[in-house]
Amino acid sequence: MRALLLYRLELSPDTDPPDTDPADAVVEVDPATPIIRATDLGVTRGDGVFETAVVRHGVPQALEAHLHRLERSAALLELPAPSLDRWRTAVRRAAAAVSRPGVLRDGEIASIKFAMTRGDELDHAGPTGWVLSFAGADPSAVRAAGVTAVVLDRGYRHDVMHTAPWLLQGAKSLAYAVNQAALREAARRGADDVVFVSADGFVLEGPRSTLIARIDDTLVTPPPEFGVLPGTTQGDVFAGLADRRTAIVPVTREDLRRADALWLCSSTRGAVPVRALDGAALAIDHELTARMNAVLDARED
Ligand code: PLP
Repeated sequence: MRALLLYRLELSPDTDPPDTDPADAVVEVDPATPIIRATDLGVTRGDGVFETAVVRHGVPQALEAHLHRLERSAALLELPAPSLDRWRTAVRRAAAAVSRPGVLRDGEIASIKFAMTRGDELDHAGPTGWVLSFAGADPSAVRAAGVTAVVLDRGYRHDVMHTAPWLLQGAKSLAYAVNQAALREAARRGADDVVFVSADGFVLEGPRSTLIARIDDTLVTPPPEFGVLPGTTQGDVFAGLADRRTAIVPVTREDLRRADALWLCSSTRGAVPVRALDGAALAIDHELTARMNAVLDARED
């Protein structure tokens, strides 16, 4: 990952009268400039939300879906509602800037990470926000080769969002240490990635992706009510494959054993096939994978 561009967002609630130009709140800073303090709650407690969108055709893909999810995550954390005009302006500006010729090197694609924290615990000045564009590896190779994954227990029941909403399942919060730990556990077991299941046996999502399984010729994914993120990538795959049967339905561990193909979907990588789950080989449907990724890569908003 190579940092390309950084914007700081002015998010004080007092500076958002209706006639303000959202662009005035977006301040470009050198990516090497520190813009967050040691007393920011995003740093000290992971108390904030974020999104990552990929850039193609000069625009951040699925931006409205990402903004909508930022709003949803902020509501789950009881953060102030994000001023979407500011975020939209900043993310679009970052996408345009990194799409200029010469910014990316061969084999790189640009993505944009935007984050909003609860703010600094000393100055109470409102949320802290920033937008960082970065260059990452082009996902073509991983889309072709696929990944290996292991099933890990997330430790919560499928209805955790309702029984214990304070656990913030289903919010894209900045607190990803658990997801990172699960990926390290996968590596210890010799795998690349993880499929989380609930304590009561329902399939959930990956630590950084949405799962799509093909079961009985239907492409299925678990419902967001099970405490998983509504995936922007999965959403666009389903929308783009109009000739396929798709469903957002509960999937049990037993259902997963009947799946004849699996994909882990995320903004930065697109649809990545799973070639082995818990050591059992799975066939890669290269043709369907290529169709999914063609749908994704063609998006112009
Ligand atoms: N689920 C989790 C936990 C994630 O972190 C992500 C992306 O980072 C996703 C699902 C996929 O979301 P999207 O397709 O919108 O990138």
